[in-house]
Amino acid sequence: MNFKSQLDEVEVFSKVAQAAKNLRLETYVVGGFVRDLVLGRPCKDIDFTCVGSGIKLAEEVAKQFDYHVPLSVFKNFGTAMLKVEEYELEFVGARKESYRLESRKPIVEDGTLQEDLERRDFTINAMAISLNEENFGDLIDPFRGLADIKKKIIRTPLDASITFSDDPLRMLRAVRFASQLDFDIEPDTFFALADNASRLEIISSERIIVELNKIILVKKPSYGFKLLFAGKLLQEFFPEMVALQGVDSVDDKSHKDNFYHTLQVLDNVCQVSNDLYLRWAAILHDIAKPATKRFNTKVGWTFHGHEDKGARMVPEIFRRLKLPMDERMKYVQKLVRLHLRPIALIKDEVTDSALRRLLFDAGDAIDDLMKLCRADVTSKNNKKVKRYLENFDKVDEKLLEVEEKDQMRNFQPPISGEEVMQVFNLEPSKIVGEIKEEIKEAILEGRIHNNPIEARELMIKIAKKKGLTPVNNP
Ligand code: ATP
Ligand code: MG
Repeated sequence: MNFKSQLDEVEVFSKVAQAAKNLRLETYVVGGFVRDLVLGRPCKDIDFTCVGSGIKLAEEVAKQFDYHVPLSVFKNFGTAMLKVEEYELEFVGARKESYRLESRKPIVEDGTLQEDLERRDFTINAMAISLNEENFGDLIDPFRGLADIKKKIIRTPLDASITFSDDPLRMLRAVRFASQLDFDIEPDTFFALADNASRLEIISSERIIVELNKIILVKKPSYGFKLLFAGKLLQEFFPEMVALQGVDSVDDKSHKDNFYHTLQVLDNVCQVSNDLYLRWAAILHDIAKPATKRFNTKVGWTFHGHEDKGARMVPEIFRRLKLPMDERMKYVQKLVRLHLRPIALIKDEVTDSALRRLLFDAGDAIDDLMKLCRADVTSKNNKKVKRYLENFDKVDEKLLEVEEKDQMRNFQPPISGEEVMQVFNLEPSKIVGEIKEEIKEAILEGRIHNNPIEARELMIKIAKKKGLTPVNNP
């Protein structure tokens, strides 16, 4: 197989070939770019390997572009990077690697192209295209990566168990590539996952989360999670999610399997949003179900309070998985805490104050909350699904009405703490907070409208009851 015509379309390849010729360096395109070229996926990162110094080659390539391209050299790693238009070119000498037990960092020596391809993780990532004059554009495919792409399988070039034990991150990459490309994992490679799962202990959480987030960001992430679970990898870093799996029965009454339910909710959310953290909210929405599960002879299985307990579990899970401990965590926590509230608003006789409270509590997250609630409908009975979704349409309408009327979204109390302090000549203190809180409650309950005039009137009344009088004329 030859890719000359495809390479001729991008100037970069002729320049690298010229540089390689000038230096008499055997040079190849390798790795992800070759895989994506075969798959017809666009790819802007191009890795080049030469048998010799990658840094010298990169410098010679920069010269071919009259040095109009930024070059960065990483002497310690023996690599160099060039930016050419939208492409990032990386140059490295062919290398051979050997591993020690306690680290995923190999001992690196110079090697041949064959040795360089051998150290790569999967056959589909272990192909090269020649940039050398005698066979320019030829595919070099010692491990039959091309055939594996056709068969849609992920397979390691060498023994899978050794490959994974050497660098356990590759196990997560296997699931990640399977998820992104919708490939199967070849059986020997798959069985090596469970055998080496405990090796994940030498991988940092920071690296794990990068791969996990890539799995979560695919079109249908349930597949990746099922592979992580079946390959015993999820058990190593996300036991809370594993605990969702399984069904208990008492007196012939059983509850649904919350692991598969969660995955269905996740897939549903993915159809309407690409947002990583809304996806995380879907993953975590029922996370406290195992901890709150009770059996009651009258009503069967219950999970009372799982939304609050789940929200309380979010920070710990984020901290451990090295997810961001900022407003994104707060957002996920909010969605988990509120995920049952819209259901309570389905009833016809629901009050405006209940709607106002949800708008106030959800703030900007209200639209995402409604997406999560719709995604949470996973009944197999289509009629039921239709009815539930129509109910949520009604909730949407009611929310919209109240929002238009009262401007509740991102509600800022019309009286600030400073104003309270100024009017009554107070220092910052508890009483200021109490007055503000009472005004907020009155607005949410609908006793006064959401405007400064009514709020001021009420402020004076509340303060009076507390024995305060305004210092200057309000
Ligand atoms: P993507 O850029 O979409 O993540 P990629 O295949 O380009 O996919 P990179 O992490 O950029 O992945 O790595 C480039 C190449 O380096 C891979 O195609 C593979 O050949 C090799 N590689 C990367 N990580 C490993 C690893 N942990 N073990 C073995 N080979 C690896
Ligand atoms: Mg890449």
